[in-house]
Amino acid sequence: MSDQLTDREWQAWAIAQVEADANRTSDTHLHVFPLPPEWGVRLYLKDESVHPTGSLKHRLARSLVLYGLCNNWIRRGTTLVEASSGSTAVSEAYFARLLGLPFVAVMPASVVREKCALIGFHGGRCHLVDDPTTIYAEAQRLADESGGHYLDQFTYAERATDWRGNNNIAESMFDQLRMEPDPVPSWVVVGAGTGGTSATIGRYLRYQRFATRLCVVDPEGSAFYPAWSTGDRTVTAAGSRIEGIGRPRVEPSFLPELVDRMIAVPDAASVAAMRWGTALLDRQVGGSTGTNLWGAVQLIAEMVAAGQRGSVVTLICDDGRRYAHTYYADDWVAAQGWDLTPYADALGAFLRTGTLTHP
Ligand SMILES: *Cc1c(COP(=O)(O)O)cnc(C)c1O
Repeated sequence: MSDQLTDREWQAWAIAQVEADANRTSDTHLHVFPLPPEWGVRLYLKDESVHPTGSLKHRLARSLVLYGLCNNWIRRGTTLVEASSGSTAVSEAYFARLLGLPFVAVMPASVVREKCALIGFHGGRCHLVDDPTTIYAEAQRLADESGGHYLDQFTYAERATDWRGNNNIAESMFDQLRMEPDPVPSWVVVGAGTGGTSATIGRYLRYQRFATRLCVVDPEGSAFYPAWSTGDRTVTAAGSRIEGIGRPRVEPSFLPELVDRMIAVPDAASVAAMRWGTALLDRQVGGSTGTNLWGAVQLIAEMVAAGQRGSVVTLICDDGRRYAHTYYADDWVAAQGWDLTPYADALGAFLRTGTLTHP
């Protein structure tokens, strides 16, 4: 990168780099989940684990960086800072390196290890804090002090992505459904971490005037479900054990008014459904994908009971290999106090009967 460039010229170069990265990447697959064909209900999973950084956060990081560039918040040499304990920081580190910018992830000291290693792999740095509730303020402080930019996923996720289309996740999904028997699904099922994915899909459904309803699945310990059911955005919760989804506070980027229905999913159900999905799809999926599957199965059982045909779409959010030592390890699962057996049995019975009996 030449030092002779003006900020405006550097930004034009940087935007071209981000666009070229997208151009090198192909669309993510839409898999068909093997359900008994006689039900007349099809389940599709959009595989967001195949992005270059392994999760749907690749889309978010690209959007947040483009938004920062086009707002003139990110210039040559700007340090990028994020408050994140997970996949977002990994994807943002990837884009920071693409643009030759320093990247710092502020995260709770409790979480780390493998995550820090991955962020380091992409050229970023981890800044650890003892109190998890201080990550937002600490990220803002670091950005202010270094003249950097706080990407702030939990505020900007809902607005950094173009909800009208422009190859967002919703447009891509509907384009891939075009030749299917029921190209307008009855339901789209997603979890919420930032809430950005559900906001993009919810707006797109309305804009395109589709009858499809949006269901958000939420794990134990999350503030989103109680906030949606009571209308009170000030509720707080203990925090989620399903990585990527469920938050201890209602993040600004979660927009409950776009959500038609929420399903609270027990953690043991998420993990049982994750393993069930991995076995049936022949690809290893993560914990939040299990949460999605449990919610989708509940909706499909209702459709089957009502004699309703149609389709349901959900996401493979990230690659399950990240969880080999946690959700896939029986001793780790047992140490959480989770008994998967009743949920695994319920999923097995569902495939035979079309009904889901809650343990
Ligand atoms: C972030 C994340 C989600 C939720 O996506 P949002 O758009 O942030 O709501 C789901 N699963 C995983 C693994 C994630 O990292």
